[in-house]
Amino acid sequence: MIRLYDTRQHKKVDFTPLHEGEVRMYVCGPTVYNRIHIGNARTFISFDMIRRYLEWAGYEVTFVQNVTDVDDKIINRAAEEGRTAAEVAAEYTEAFIQDMHAAGVADPTIRPKATEEIPAMIELVQSLVDKGHAYVVDGDVYFSVRSDPRYGTLSGRNVDEMESGHRELRADGQGLEDRKQDPLDFALWKAAKPGEPAWDSPWGQGRPGWHIECSAMSHKYLGLPFDIHGGGQDLVFPHHENERAQSECGCGTAFANHWMHSGMLQVNAEKMSKSLGNFLLLHEVLEGARPEALRMLMLQTHYRSPLDFSPARLEEADAALTRVENALSAADWACQNAVDGAPDALDGEALRARAQTCRGAFAAAMDDDFNAPAALGGIFTLVGEVNTALADNTLSVMDAEAVACATDAIRELLAVLGIALAEDAGTADYPEEVVTLAADVAGYGGADAMEAVEALLEARALARSEKDWARADAVRDGLTGLGFAIEDTPQGAKVTYER
Ligand code: AMP
Ligand code: ZN
Repeated sequence: MIRLYDTRQHKKVDFTPLHEGEVRMYVCGPTVYNRIHIGNARTFISFDMIRRYLEWAGYEVTFVQNVTDVDDKIINRAAEEGRTAAEVAAEYTEAFIQDMHAAGVADPTIRPKATEEIPAMIELVQSLVDKGHAYVVDGDVYFSVRSDPRYGTLSGRNVDEMESGHRELRADGQGLEDRKQDPLDFALWKAAKPGEPAWDSPWGQGRPGWHIECSAMSHKYLGLPFDIHGGGQDLVFPHHENERAQSECGCGTAFANHWMHSGMLQVNAEKMSKSLGNFLLLHEVLEGARPEALRMLMLQTHYRSPLDFSPARLEEADAALTRVENALSAADWACQNAVDGAPDALDGEALRARAQTCRGAFAAAMDDDFNAPAALGGIFTLVGEVNTALADNTLSVMDAEAVACATDAIRELLAVLGIALAEDAGTADYPEEVVTLAADVAGYGGADAMEAVEALLEARALARSEKDWARADAVRDGLTGLGFAIEDTPQGAKVTYER
């Protein structure tokens, strides 16, 4: 049984999907006025991990994530740059999708754009007006917070003690405060200002308020109620409280069955901000780091806890990943070179059992509110056991099967967390120079680094058999010069590459 921490209930609860075997989830997407930063990435990676685990656990997951492509920030940026808001939004939507792919985040099942869903939003606003939960003032429409007796139940706030969290500007820059019946009310629809994106509506030309898009899209694509609504903790109030109020009042049904929020990312223990100079865009970080290392760093902290990012922690995560890759490539090599007839030196049964235990422990950790740090801990323990199994042992065929059982589990479970390691772990990073070396020294004519290493080893073996020591040494020196280590074993030369 999966248990998750539900923000509304302030506790971990059993997760039972509303439709058997299916999970319908909605995670608020970005406002596309800039490249996304690593704080945004933390939230998106957290929910990608949650989704992948739900799929591994056997659920069919429908994952909806919107793109907010009309908003004050987009309009302001467009004005500064002398472009249209649509141009700015199109550029950063494309960049967002690229950034997500680069980070290994799976595409949502549906990625609706606010500007393409205006009719659904107008319909919902109209229904709120019809039911007396919203009112129109000169082309603006406001939600009447006090008309919703449940307002505040998600974020745990009492309406009477609430300060106005909604200091919004009208599209023409005027304050809204004097137009609202109550300072707590918030805009569902904003009357148009000349030159800004605008759509026809029953209240005149205008554009939607921010919160209404998520209510309209989740209703349209998931149906109400749906299982899980997610986002970063900063969205609990007012955004999610307002989404909930709009949807429940407008549609007359419950909205999200569970609310999940990921913790905020900080950089060097400080809030990330442009003025502190610690503002890191995801694509900049990924220019100097592997996406798997970034994900390893992120998942080493529980998704609900604050996460402290630093370049040093990223390097540590990369080193941890390299240790796993080295263990896997050593194991693969030892399995490929297992010796028929060699004695079974390992307790193969025990190692197979450990691989199975590791899968069980992984599921138990992840079932407990997606505890990825604990899940990773279990995987690292199994990696250590593989290393122990390999030490000083020539593997028999039986031993090799047991080792492969363990490495299969390690690869599978890391992939569930979104950390995909190549089958030939460790070879993906071979330096390109090895191809030139193989061409010069071994007459290799291809362009594949792994084949080049094999050609070099064959050339060395041939030189040694012909007692051409100078040539054999030249090959070895060439390889070590590029960072390879060569070890001669009874099964032949074994090469490792230290990144
Ligand atoms: P925005 O484009 O600002 O609406 O943010 C998109 C997503 O990123 C939302 O789910 C936010 O909660 C989340 N987010 C923004 N800043 C951070 C941060 N520093 N750490 C974690 N998540 C964040
Ligand atoms: Zn939203």
